[in-house]
This record gives sequence, C-alpha cells and structure tokens, in this order.
Amino acid sequence: MKTPIREQNLQARKLSRVIKGMPATDGAGVELTRIIGQPALPMLDPFLLLDAFRSDKPEDYIAGFPPHPHRGFETVTYLLAGRMRHKDSAGHEGVIESGGIQWMTAGKGIVHSEMPEQEKGLLEGFQLWVNLPAGHKMDPPRYQEHPASDIPLETRQGGIELRVISGMTSQGTTGPVVQPLTEPLYLDVRVPAGQQFVETLPASHNAFIYMITGPANVVHENGQTTRLVRDDLGILGEGVTVKLDAGKSDVRFLLVAGKPLGEPVARGGPFVMNTHSEIQQAFEDYDQGRF
Ligand code: MN
Repeated sequence: MKTPIREQNLQARKLSRVIKGMPATDGAGVELTRIIGQPALPMLDPFLLLDAFRSDKPEDYIAGFPPHPHRGFETVTYLLAGRMRHKDSAGHEGVIESGGIQWMTAGKGIVHSEMPEQEKGLLEGFQLWVNLPAGHKMDPPRYQEHPASDIPLETRQGGIELRVISGMTSQGTTGPVVQPLTEPLYLDVRVPAGQQFVETLPASHNAFIYMITGPANVVHENGQTTRLVRDDLGILGEGVTVKLDAGKSDVRFLLVAGKPLGEPVARGGPFVMNTHSEIQQAFEDYDQGRF
C-alpha cells in the first residue's frame, strides 16, 4: 500500500544524539579532534572513525602521517583548506587541496602516507573511515581521487549549495566517488541565513550532520529544537527527511549517510576486521611483508 503524503511528512529524521569530539593525537604527532571512534561514539555503522583537523600552527600538523598500513576498510580524506599528499604501496599518488577528496579502499592491505604539502598556513579537513563487508575486506586495494573541480555543485532556491562527493541527492546530482557496498552519501552543504534545507535520505542508512560553521537548528527526537554549533556531530534518527534551519548566519555542514553492515567489528589499530584472529593475521601479514 502506498504511504499517504501526510504520513510521509511525519517520517522526519530528527536528531537522536549530539556528540562533541575529543582531542587526540595520531600519525607522527598530528593534533586532531576525534568525533567517531571515541568513547562517546565508538562507531556509527558503517562509519568507524571521523577525525577533524583544523590548525594554522605548523607544529600541529607538519609531522603528518608517515607510511602505515591499513586493512579491511576505506579511508576518506576531504580537505577544506591546505594541501595533502597521498602515496601508497599500490602505486597511487596524488595531492589534493581545498575541496578535494581522496577515497582509499585498503581492502586486503595497503601501506600509505598522508603528508601535508605545506610548511605554513591553515590545514583543515576530515578523515572518515568507512567499513567494508566481510566478503570484501580482502579485495584488492583501490584509490579514487578527485579535485574540487570534479565535484558537482547543486544549487537550490534560496542560495543553498551542495557539493556532492559521493551518492546522489534527491534532485539527482551524483558524486564522482562510487561505493556500492555501503552506498555512502557524502555532501558538503551551505545554507544562507534564514533558509531551510530539506533532503530525503535512504531510510535504511545511518546518517549524521557535522557542523563546520554554525549554528543551525534541527528538531530533536525529544521534541525540542536543538542548536547545532560548530564542531557538533548530530546523529539523525530513523526516518526519511532531514530538515535544518539556518538562523541569523550562513551555515556549512557535512551530511553523511551510509548503509549499516550489521556485522561484528574487530579493531586492531590500523586494521578493522570481523574477528580477533583476523586482526592477528593482519599484524602477522604486515610483519611478514605481505602487504
Ligand atoms: Mn591512514
């Protein structure tokens, strides 16, 4: 039976939780904020980790992430400012800058480095880890890199702008990154002051908003309108339609969604598998030079 329009409107994805990141240090000493993958939010299936970095102090980022391995999932780097060079053992290499994306599928194993390609100035961006299903964790590594000029810009009434990195918007704009295993939607959205942003998301997906520039208002499942401020991550509850209201100022945020895998997750540093013995195997394979 077709759902009546009235009921569809009720299927709003309201906020279920708001998470604050915690300070962390990773790589060779990069100062960052860990939002997913910390005690308050160990994961949001299929997302295993979300780090945000934003600093104009070279000592916070200059050490970068020298060569290190990964197996079993994908690392996604999106830069808002600065330049970052990726290089890996499968022969992929590239530099991205503001608005560029590096989407690396580690699969059965890869060694990569992620180093700032700058000695001063602002470096700002995100790294997201997206899990792979058990049957694809040992696939060959893959790498998708796109500069800002590859990323389509959808413009809507009221001056709303969406940069579509992955997935498809309700208006049919499709991003260049393709991953059918988790069907990720990765949008960078700008909403001018006083405007309302409305978007439908696949009901089966887990989804979150990460505020880059706030504040914006979203209705919480408790019935109250909640103010999301800069650096808040808002987890969206069940439903279809997300609505966000910009207040007196322009806002910018990431809207990210993905199909949950519902599988057991075993973590061991840079490896994410389904069982502990697969993690032990990953360390052994890496030590034996099998990556
Ligand atoms: Mn890495």
